Amino acid sequence: MPGIADADPALAPDLATLDAAVAGCRACPRLVAWREEVAATKRAAFRDQTYWGRPVPGFGATDARLLIVGLAPAAHGANRTGRMFTGDRSGDVLYAALHAVGLASQPTSVAIGDGLELFGTRITAPVRCAPPANKPTPAERDRCRPWLARELALLRDTVRAVVVLGGFGWQALLPVLATPDPASGHPGWVVPTPRPAFGHAAHVTLSPVSGADTASLELFGCYHVSQQNTFTGRLTPAMLEDVLASAATAAGLETRPRRGDPG
Ligand code: SF4
Repeated sequence: MPGIADADPALAPDLATLDAAVAGCRACPRLVAWREEVAATKRAAFRDQTYWGRPVPGFGATDARLLIVGLAPAAHGANRTGRMFTGDRSGDVLYAALHAVGLASQPTSVAIGDGLELFGTRITAPVRCAPPANKPTPAERDRCRPWLARELALLRDTVRAVVVLGGFGWQALLPVLATPDPASGHPGWVVPTPRPAFGHAAHVTLSPVSGADTASLELFGCYHVSQQNTFTGRLTPAMLEDVLASAATAAGLETRPRRGDPG
């Protein structure tokens, strides 16, 4: 069984190092084979493009106060472009909403180098490789956890709120939040037992462990921006913007007035 590339996520001293290291990970044979097969065969509309075909690093501010956690890269989206939620309909919805609430410099995310900037916000995922049928196995999720754990550890001094898109990310993230990080000295947060249930607009305040000199963390649930949810109206742009705006406010970020806001 291959290991997590040559790099140990726990040793990455900063996010730039972590982002570079994760892109070389080959620890999951099934996902490595799938992401590379998709990159080689391509979708007809993108046949002239060179697919990324590797694990996708987090994207956004390195001192983020707000973290957005999805599921995994899409085969012809982030697996093609190399940036989280970029190049597919899910990302179109997410970045439009981030721009609407004032967290992104532009409403579209097309490709690395398109000038997009996130304000105080970072986007990541518990699984970094595109999985067949968008379904990573529990073993793949667990194998990828050290990358998310280290990313969170490197953000722990600044992050104050998290928006989790979908139940998979919620279940993957909670154990990470509850785990102390010896490298940074952060004790983690107290996750209630039984664990809080995922739901759209769910909001839980996680306290630092007793006696720790650490800020609390505001955790928000939101339906995933999948086409299944957005095409059916289960998740509307207004619903997504409401959660993002609430989380941004909880994180101490300024938001932009939106349509329908009182005057
Ligand atoms: S899913 Fe995560 S652990 Fe598995 S190969 Fe991709 S980056 Fe590595």
